Amino acid sequence: MLTARFPYFFDACHSEIEMEARRFRGSGSIRDRVAALGGTGLLRHVVPRPGALPDSRAVAVIRAALAENDPLDDLALVIQGLGAFPLSREPGNEAWLDDARAGCRVLAFGLTEPGAGSDVQAMTSFAEPDGDTWRLTGVKHYISNAPDCDLAVVFARIEGRPACFVVESPEVETQRVAGHSIGRILLDRSRAQLVSRRGLALALGTLDRFRPTVGGAAIGIASAALHLTLKHIQHRQQFGAPLATLPVVRLRVADMVLKLEGATLSVLHACWRRDHAAPDERTGADSAIAKITATEAAWEVVDQAVQLHGALGVDEEAGVEPLLRALRPLRIYEGATDVLKSVIAASVLESS
Ligand SMILES: Cc1cc2nc3c(=O)[nH]c(=O)nc-3n(C[C@H](O)[C@H](O)[C@H](O)COP(=O)(O)OP(=O)(O)OC[C@H]3O[C@@H](n4cnc5c(N)ncnc54)[C@H](O)[C@@H]3O)c2cc1C
Repeated sequence: MLTARFPYFFDACHSEIEMEARRFRGSGSIRDRVAALGGTGLLRHVVPRPGALPDSRAVAVIRAALAENDPLDDLALVIQGLGAFPLSREPGNEAWLDDARAGCRVLAFGLTEPGAGSDVQAMTSFAEPDGDTWRLTGVKHYISNAPDCDLAVVFARIEGRPACFVVESPEVETQRVAGHSIGRILLDRSRAQLVSRRGLALALGTLDRFRPTVGGAAIGIASAALHLTLKHIQHRQQFGAPLATLPVVRLRVADMVLKLEGATLSVLHACWRRDHAAPDERTGADSAIAKITATEAAWEVVDQAVQLHGALGVDEEAGVEPLLRALRPLRIYEGATDVLKSVIAASVLESS
């Protein structure tokens, strides 16, 4: 339990939240998992009441607990949060937020386009007025949970400036990314409701808010890999003794623990900073440091886990290989590692 190991980062409420997340067991489709999460009340931590902001430490410990057991449960939870955050920053969206919090409507967050990935400002999707509503044209791709979604929060330009919209039951083409429910949202003069003309600020604000918690998911996946490895090396006999008796293997285990510990401290520090900062204060550099530290460290931990399992490490049914596939996209989405390094460099240079 993170709240027990690092109590100085947490408030009294956090250990119960972490225990609730540890008890959760989702199954089936993203829609089934979102509904089950709604039944527990865990979604209220990513979809808070109007005017409130998500508590980053709560989101991080929930994500770590869910991802350790099943990364799909983590995705079911966090995409509700990404979709809801822009809605929560504007008045009049309470009904959508209530449904998102209860888990009875599945949300998606559609920012990325074929020509606008890391460079979100290159987006070309656009909006045209149509009476009281709008018509959107463009394509959003690699959108998590899109195949299951009821409400897609998407970004498109009004007279050149990115704005934020909701499209109900969008047309979606499924894409194939292992271990994900993901797809292309096809906007062909699709009817949409305007959420805000401050689209870019809302999109970047959402990513800024949730970025350190990606590290929470990474440490959950890395913890699962470490636990599988500890079990395996104590059981697997080679050269007449368990692998765990070999000095080189013990050194590898120590390296995994070191990586995981550093990653955890970095994530909890960034989340603590976010929770104690003024609502509009930017904590982007801490978030970027935490996301890079955790996702890169977790990648090394999971890679070591594969190695120490031998052939079982790449066997799709043995438990470690799915962790590798679940973890890899975390180093790409919500700011690829090298893109976030420019955020860190800019922050250090500005304050020097
Ligand atoms: C599993 C998964 C789920 C996703 N879910 C969502 C979602 O729900 N909603 C959504 O909107 N998007 C989502 N995405 C898209 C994701 O946000 C983008 O993939 C990401 O922003 C990178 O964009 P890109 O793939 O176009 O890569 P590109 O922008 O083409 O970048 C490719 C690589 O080039 C390098 N690079 C690019 N720019 C720079 C730079 N300025 N400095 C240094 N190096 C650079 C980096 O190594 C980068 O990884 C998801 C992606 C994946 C894989």
